[in-house]
Amino acid sequence: MAEIHLKSLAHSYDKHAEKPEYAIRHMDHVWEDGGAFALLGPSGCGKSTLLNIISGLLEPSDGDVLFDGVRVNDIPPQDRNIAQVFQFPVVYDTMSVFDNLAFPLRNMGAGDAKIQSKVGEIAAILELTEVLNKKAANLTADEKQKVSMGRGLVRDDVSAILFDEPLTVIDPQLKWKLRRKLKQIHEKFNTTMVYVTHDQLEASTFADKIALMYEGQVVQFGTPRELFERPNHTFVGYFIGSPGMNFLKVTRCEQGVCLGDKIFPLNEVEKQALRTSDSNNLKVGIRPEFVHLWDKPNGSAHRAEVGFIEDLGTYKIVSLKLGEHALKARLQEDQKVPQGHAYISFPEQWLMLYIDEFLVAKDESYE
Ligand code: ADP
Ligand code: MG
Repeated sequence: MAEIHLKSLAHSYDKHAEKPEYAIRHMDHVWEDGGAFALLGPSGCGKSTLLNIISGLLEPSDGDVLFDGVRVNDIPPQDRNIAQVFQFPVVYDTMSVFDNLAFPLRNMGAGDAKIQSKVGEIAAILELTEVLNKKAANLTADEKQKVSMGRGLVRDDVSAILFDEPLTVIDPQLKWKLRRKLKQIHEKFNTTMVYVTHDQLEASTFADKIALMYEGQVVQFGTPRELFERPNHTFVGYFIGSPGMNFLKVTRCEQGVCLGDKIFPLNEVEKQALRTSDSNNLKVGIRPEFVHLWDKPNGSAHRAEVGFIEDLGTYKIVSLKLGEHALKARLQEDQKVPQGHAYISFPEQWLMLYIDEFLVAKDESYE
């Protein structure tokens, strides 16, 4: 097990081009020893590139990869002690399932007793015991991917296990089950695990902490709850949640920020941040879950038009228009939706200010 530190890392696949494009843009990141992490982000944001740099399949154009403080840039993949599971199964078709699972153990010179017990243990967890003697070629796609995962899991001496969207080819039922199993395996062995996915649900059910990646950088690293409650970049707000966070473009005004004649009060810390910035790229963000809806005028609530109501069983999504601006509220199934128009308010605690797309913390002590 190891702490993995990516230091001043950047990567371009065409660094000799006149204007190189960077798949990883200058970033620093630490995966703490023994954690269960998800690397989440849309397709093309650089997740696979980052994993391949950690395992050594790719050499970064700039920066260092450190395992427990030791630079490993020049150490080839096979000597880095990393197990990597890919999106599509990598199995030896002519070998039995047993031999496939035993392969990494034999490679490191493990004895027969150790191989028997370890292969048995992992096969049981992945429900492969029944097929141990089958040739891998005769397995279903699901089973093959389970073998592939098993090969990543059999060694208990690895520094980390990297999973690159490993459940893509698995059917939804089994997907859920395998994710739980991976979590159990993590709880049992405490190996550092990094699980790549573009699915926020998958990320939050597997990981204690999620690194959300956007255009080649980790924009936030935190618990699922932190990403939900305090998205530190508008992209995090937009990407996490269903539907994502509402953002309203606002302007500076005497009381803080305004949307036309509507005032959104700010606290002292936010006002101070506003004073020290000269940017006019200002937004307020509020999660649909935190928008309050009233059927009558209520304090500083703003009048909004009620549009489409989407009933999703246990909750509903109400589309609203605040003047020109569209936003959404997420209500419990039993909550009544006012007809025609409603009065909406945003609890101060949940109304976030963004300057140049980055969150202004409400409290200076919060990181
Ligand atoms: P993700 O895994 O998040 O979908 P990737 O790491 O595969 O993203 O890709 C990040 C960026 O790097 C994309 O713009 C992609 O087109 C580019 N890229 C990935 N692999 C290569 C490659 N072998 N050669 C050139 N460009 C690549
Ligand atoms: Mg990928």
